[in-house]
Amino acid sequence: MQGSSEYRDVWVYCEVQDGELTRPTTEIIAGARKIADKVNMKVVGVLLGYNLGNVAREPIYYGADKVIVCDTPLLKSYQAIPYAYVLSDMVLKLRPWAFLFVANEMGRELGARVAYKTLTGLAADCIDLLVEDFVMHTPQGTKVFKDCIAQVRPDFATRIAKIFTPRHRPQMSNIRPGSFTPLPRDESRKGEVVQWEAEIPPEAFAVEVIEEWRLPKSPVKLEEAKVIISLGLGVLKDAKGNPRNPVEAYRYAEKLKNAVEKRLGVVAEIGASRALIYSGIKELEGLIVKDRQVGQTGKTVAPDIYIAAGISGAIQHRVGIMRAKKIVAINTDPAAPIFQIAHYGIVGDLYEVLPKLVEYLGGGEVEA
Ligand SMILES: Cc1cc2nc3c(=O)[nH]c(=O)nc-3n(C[C@H](O)[C@H](O)[C@H](O)COP(=O)(O)OP(=O)(O)OC[C@H]3O[C@@H](n4cnc5c(N)ncnc54)[C@H](O)[C@@H]3O)c2cc1C
Repeated sequence: MQGSSEYRDVWVYCEVQDGELTRPTTEIIAGARKIADKVNMKVVGVLLGYNLGNVAREPIYYGADKVIVCDTPLLKSYQAIPYAYVLSDMVLKLRPWAFLFVANEMGRELGARVAYKTLTGLAADCIDLLVEDFVMHTPQGTKVFKDCIAQVRPDFATRIAKIFTPRHRPQMSNIRPGSFTPLPRDESRKGEVVQWEAEIPPEAFAVEVIEEWRLPKSPVKLEEAKVIISLGLGVLKDAKGNPRNPVEAYRYAEKLKNAVEKRLGVVAEIGASRALIYSGIKELEGLIVKDRQVGQTGKTVAPDIYIAAGISGAIQHRVGIMRAKKIVAINTDPAAPIFQIAHYGIVGDLYEVLPKLVEYLGGGEVEA
């Protein structure tokens, strides 16, 4: 849809699991709040499903001003086509200024369908949202689009890009989990809940859901960890160039994790670079698994301390750790790009530095 001042408010598609808003949904409500306050608009949570009574006010407790609920047995199980049908109908009738989704399987699919059906753009895999003027230079002159959303995302190669949708509304994006910190849940927050009556044509139900299974939850707790020790391809050799068994490095990282948890009483976790995960090293099977990947195509993390051991610091890794409060880099190469963003840089061999850190914290024996 072509943009105009008729478009108002920042919508968030709210995902519910086990009767609660998912954590990434609460994060995006916080991101929506940040931009909505800058342009004096409301944050609106959009909830689709069945039996949503208990969760309908939750978006308000996390920072929304209003919730639109479409509660019908027809939407009991998630299906892309009817869900996209309802959301595009809402968008065309109510005209939001922006519409945000979580960058996961559901949000990516649903957001793209809604953007297509409402003839607007979609910025995928965003890691931040800003409000900025967009200046367009054309042979006919310069045009300034006031107060647009700068949708910040990693580019394909080495840059961070800002995507603008200056002419069309809503401005749509999906946001990577971990990109914002949720606002504290506050039951005293006031807001309006409105019901939406969906008219979904029978042909929208192209499939029948017979049974649903939940995938087991990953035991890797990167999102909640306060300290992350991540390993990269530097585990393959020590500083003298001697090949090492990478399991040794993994065990040091594990000891450090245990020592941190024991001494500091906070959640610690082991992460990894994509290069290490996909290196196919037999010994690391079951230890350095895909769930540990940090970065553009892995997880965005926000620990208090991020220790990058033997990681060069490629942009695709760095975009995943930009919200870490302190970055400690251990690398034998003083010119490694990770040192450009590290708060503490240790030029050294991870096979020497990690054991020293473990020792400093009083050891971290792995329980048998
Ligand atoms: C579309 C796309 C998406 C990507 N997504 C991701 C992603 O999500 N996450 C990600 O991590 N990467 C991602 N990558 C890959 C990324 O570009 C890099 O290739 C990768 O991060 C490099 O991993 P690394 O730092 O472990 O390995 P390397 O770049 O090989 O670095 C190893 C480092 O270890 C150091 N070293 C060597 N020996 C030691 C030692 N004994 N002690 C200390 N230091 C030592 C070396 O000096 C070097 O700096 C992506 C790439 C693309 C194209």
